[in-house]
Order: sequence, then structure tokens, then C-alpha cells
Amino acid sequence: MLYSKFQHPARTFAAHALWRMPGRFGVARIFGPSYSLRCVVFHNISVVESPFTTGTNVSTTPSKFEAALKFLTTYYEPVRLEDVLINPDGKRLPARAVLVTFDDAYASFADVAAPLCQKFGVPAVFFVNAAFLDNQRLAPDNLVCYVANVLGMETIKSAARAVRGADSPELHHLSDVFGRFLPSLMLVEREAFLEALRSSGGINERCLAKEAGLYLTGEQLRGLASVDFEIGNHTYSHVHCRSLRREDFGQEIDRNKAELEAASGTKVRSFSQPYGSSKDLTPELIRHLKQSGYEAVFLSESVANPPSADPFHLDRVNSRVDGDDTFFLELEILPRLRAVRNQFFRDSGDAPNRANSFQPEAN
Ligand SMILES: [Zn+2]
Repeated sequence: MLYSKFQHPARTFAAHALWRMPGRFGVARIFGPSYSLRCVVFHNISVVESPFTTGTNVSTTPSKFEAALKFLTTYYEPVRLEDVLINPDGKRLPARAVLVTFDDAYASFADVAAPLCQKFGVPAVFFVNAAFLDNQRLAPDNLVCYVANVLGMETIKSAARAVRGADSPELHHLSDVFGRFLPSLMLVEREAFLEALRSSGGINERCLAKEAGLYLTGEQLRGLASVDFEIGNHTYSHVHCRSLRREDFGQEIDRNKAELEAASGTKVRSFSQPYGSSKDLTPELIRHLKQSGYEAVFLSESVANPPSADPFHLDRVNSRVDGDDTFFLELEILPRLRAVRNQFFRDSGDAPNRANSFQPEAN
């Protein structure tokens, strides 16, 4: 999980100023190259935060989500994944095509998001982790978050020390855990860390997951698929794919596809990268996804997709909007600036210093 380094007051000022400009969508083009497909990603749609989500920035209230849908249907044209796939060069897509997606396996997809999408006639892709269906266990992020919020960071630190010993990094905030520690763990180390969290916290994960009821049931998943929403793969247990060896693909990628297809009764043909980072999109993973029949891969680095974008590298904007002006900035302006920044660093053969750039948030 990454946190915005772009200062909030400056962002608010820029959002107000740009949104009030006449011909604002034309003005946006000044900030960067042509921008073909806009993609947005939401996570949990919920009125309140819980100890399982507080501090992770994954929740959008239903009223903000509804406002976002109004914004998207007023100024953009929502499209289906199918529309994107049959128009690889983007030329026959509407001028401001937008694809709405959701990541993780939250029950709020079925309870809140899907009915609102239907109300506004917005198609969507739901990227799901089958491990959490029917609330059999907690997603690692929700478990870490719960432990930090209920038991404190000391429990997190002691679990990290149990895995890494003296090499354990300084973990002061959840952002340290999600931004630096979890991505550094191999799959087996991550399991050991989660087990240390459960045992030092005295947590019966199955009971806690049932009690929390955070995730979709298999029946809800089938219901989503039956009303023309698309179901996609988000790995089986929400892992950083950089930590997967080739022999792990069966467990995390293929198993998730098979279980989602069995539960939903539909074909899974798209993949979204947990945490959204291009660092996790390894050549080996791309090869595996292509060989397994996938047709599109999504990241969440909030960079503008150019015309004829690689369908195995489609970027999405994280949508936690406070109003039309900030949504305009987040969806129309900042992705163009990031694309220009990335192009500059590619041309100069250097890596962008992301700590000083317009860093988006990702989950
Ligand atoms: Zn995710």
C-alpha cells in the first residue's frame, strides 16, 4: 500500500482551479499525451470503517461512490471489458471511455456496489480472491489491520521479528508493513508472519472471519456474474506476485481462476495485480498469464493509458474522491503527468524517484 506524497492543500487548490476553467477537458490535454482508456478501481464500499480496514484507505462511502458514478456517467462513457478487448487500438472506443473495476472480495460488491452500478447502467469487473469467499479466512491486509488496530503495532513488530529476527525492518505504521515489509517476504515467510500474528494475538482466524463477514459468499459471486458483471482473478490469497516462484503460479493464479470459474459459472479472462504495482508484473508472470488464456492485466499506478496500450499493462486510477473537482484531477490530470514523468525517465534511462513524484495509492 502506498501513500500519497502530493500535498493535500496543493492538490485541493489545483483541483478547484482546474475544474473551474472553461474547456477543462481541453485544458487537461496540455498536461500530457493523448489518453485513451480511463480505468478506475474501487475496493470496499462501506458507510463505516471497521478495525479490519481502518488505516488502509480501501473504503469509499456509498454516497461518495454514488457521486463518483454520477460523475462518470455525466462526463465519461462507461464501457465493458469486452469493448476494450475487441478494440485493442482504442480507436472505436468512445472519446472518454472509462472502465470501472473493483479489487478484493468484499461483500459490499454485491450488497452496495453492484446495485448502484446497475442503477446508473455502469458495467464493471470484480477482481476476486477465492480464498476469502464464504468468509473462510481473513485477507492478509485485513488481518494485519485488525491486529494493528486492536492489539497495537508491538504485536506486528514481534511477529515480524519472529520471521526476520534482527533483520526485521522498523515498522512504525501500517504503511511500513504494506509498503516495505510484506513486499519483501517470500510466500513461505509471509505465511510464517501471518501465523505469528495469529498466535501472538490469540486469534482464531476462521471464527473472526465468520464473525466479521467481510467477504462475498459463493452465491453472491454467482449473482454478480449472472447480471452481466465480469469476474476477474486477483490471486488466490492476495499476494505480491514478485514473491511467487514459477511453481507457486498453480496455487495462486491457476487455482484462483478454477475456483472463481466454478463458483461464478463464467470464464475468467482478466487479472488484476494485488497492490497494483508494475514491480509485481514479472516477465515470467506475463508469460504464464498469456499461456493460460488471459486477455488483460490491470495495475493501479494511476498512469494514463495511451492509445494502443498493451492489454497486459492497463493502468487504473484509485478512486477515493471527495468531489467532482478532485475526481477530475485524479482521473484526468495526474495520470497524464505521471505518464510524462515515466516517459522522461524512460528516455533518460533512469528510474523515477517515486518518493518525490505524484505517487498514487494502491491496494
Ligand atoms: Zn487487492
